Amino acid sequence: MEGDRISYHESVRRAYRRLKEDGITNIWDRYEAQGLGGDPDKRCPFCMGGVRCDLCSNGPCRADAEKDKRGVCGITADGMAMRMMALRNVLGASTYHYHTEQTLKTLRATALGKTPFSIAEPGKLRDFASRLGLGLSGSDAEIALRLCDFCEAEISTARRTSPASSWRPWPRRSAERHGKNWASSPAAYTVR
Ligand code: SF4
Repeated sequence: MEGDRISYHESVRRAYRRLKEDGITNIWDRYEAQGLGGDPDKRCPFCMGGVRCDLCSNGPCRADAEKDKRGVCGITADGMAMRMMALRNVLGASTYHYHTEQTLKTLRATALGKTPFSIAEPGKLRDFASRLGLGLSGSDAEIALRLCDFCEAEISTARRTSPASSWRPWPRRSAERHGKNWASSPAAYTVR
């Protein structure tokens, strides 16, 4: 890759040249190598359209909405695209969960005066707290602590939910199908 394709900044281009000289793999060359037909920006159109799936051993499958071409499992192109979007959201949310915890810890310590930081934009803090339905009375630090309490409680609630309780809707349906009393029948708790 050359020139402005690497960066508008000479310092970055210099870093790229140095990496090349040292034979080190880098993001620019890897990007270029993914291109089709010598075009670094050209990618598989199915992947670009979000209609490619390899979630099970029947795939990889490619779908086409116009031709109603579906995955082996029967999923449509729209379903495939939305499923992937939902999965990406779950992946992203679980990844950033850690950052959220660190942010809350930092905000709490800052509100308690235990860090060198300060709340530089109280308007944003109040706006966020208001959206969560929290009271806006008191100082910025008090609002920040209220916000931390709320968010940490929400995160902990999710953690306290045991696998058994999150599976209950499935056994309940299974039990109902077999005419069992969901609440009293041990068999009703069998995960099927
Ligand atoms: S589209 Fe369906 S059959 Fe094809 S890989 Fe994905 S899940 Fe499997």
